[in-house]
Amino acid sequence: MGDTGKVMKALKMRKTLGPIHDSLRVPLWLRCFAPLLIFMLASTACSKGSSSTPAEGAKAGASARAPEPVAAPPTDTAPTDSGPLPQIDSKRAFQYIQEIVAFGTRPMGSENHKKVENYITSHLKGDQVEDDAFTADTVEGKFPVRNIIAKYPGTKDGIIVILGHYDTNYPLRNIGFVGANDGGSSTAILLEYANHLRGKKRDGYSVWLVWTDGEEAVRQWSDTDSLYGTRHLAEKWEKDGTLKKIKALFVMDMIADADLNIDRDTNSTPWLLDLVYQAAERSGVQSHFYARAGAMDDDHLPFVKRGVPSIDVIDLDYGYNNVFHHTAQDTIDKLSPRSLEIVGNTVLEAIRMLDRR
Ligand code: ZN
Repeated sequence: MGDTGKVMKALKMRKTLGPIHDSLRVPLWLRCFAPLLIFMLASTACSKGSSSTPAEGAKAGASARAPEPVAAPPTDTAPTDSGPLPQIDSKRAFQYIQEIVAFGTRPMGSENHKKVENYITSHLKGDQVEDDAFTADTVEGKFPVRNIIAKYPGTKDGIIVILGHYDTNYPLRNIGFVGANDGGSSTAILLEYANHLRGKKRDGYSVWLVWTDGEEAVRQWSDTDSLYGTRHLAEKWEKDGTLKKIKALFVMDMIADADLNIDRDTNSTPWLLDLVYQAAERSGVQSHFYARAGAMDDDHLPFVKRGVPSIDVIDLDYGYNNVFHHTAQDTIDKLSPRSLEIVGNTVLEAIRMLDRR
């Protein structure tokens, strides 16, 4: 078990669950009665006095391969109007990936990493930008880490945070790993979101975009060798009270695969998973969501552990059997602007629905 577990960890994921999840194929009649069923189940479950956090519950459920509950969305997340669907400029976003990939491999502490930092901030001129910079002490030595935060104020009290990492893997620095999907797509979609948010008066929550650093392991994925940037940021935001203001946190990672299948991450907050699915349904792209389920270790975990409603929007099946993930084959020819558009628009629509709650 140990070796398998470690290998899986090194891949940053635990694909603990098998293929299609039957529970996700919910007949219409069951959907209609789901709230009642959930209520009935909950009233028996409560007597067991479960004290586990949502994250622990999800992990336990995943490892035991228990059937997923038919998650009934909170009734107040339903769209209250049929306003126009958000639309990103996916060609421009795809162009960003091309430009980022052109910098080459960009692990923490490298010259190329510095170039990408400058590339990101050069696209945020005039925006309210903050750094969360520090030195990470790792098994490979000390590295400078820099999370870049852009803030777009809204009229509602509360913050929606969208995270995406821009670093590539230190252990892969000599194999020509450019991370078009892993690191490139997340950086690009956030740059496109900045275009979308800039210069507009937001009639909703404030939105903060965070280009996270040090998401990848410097040697082998573990709780202490990974997520350097977000572990620091979550701790900082816990101390200064920011965490309490966060209404929802989205992580975008590996979202541009031409063969797009967003996973249903069992470490994510169930009502946020449902909200994103509803948002996808509004534009008829839900067939790209949740055909698989599994527990993801990603930038959302430090926030999940602190009780922040969080979701990892990720497609962790990159090439047949995930063969392109963390290899020199993670290149732009595997990606599609349409995938960026589907995911980019869906998350924006989910935020629009949150704003109206
Ligand atoms: Zn990765």
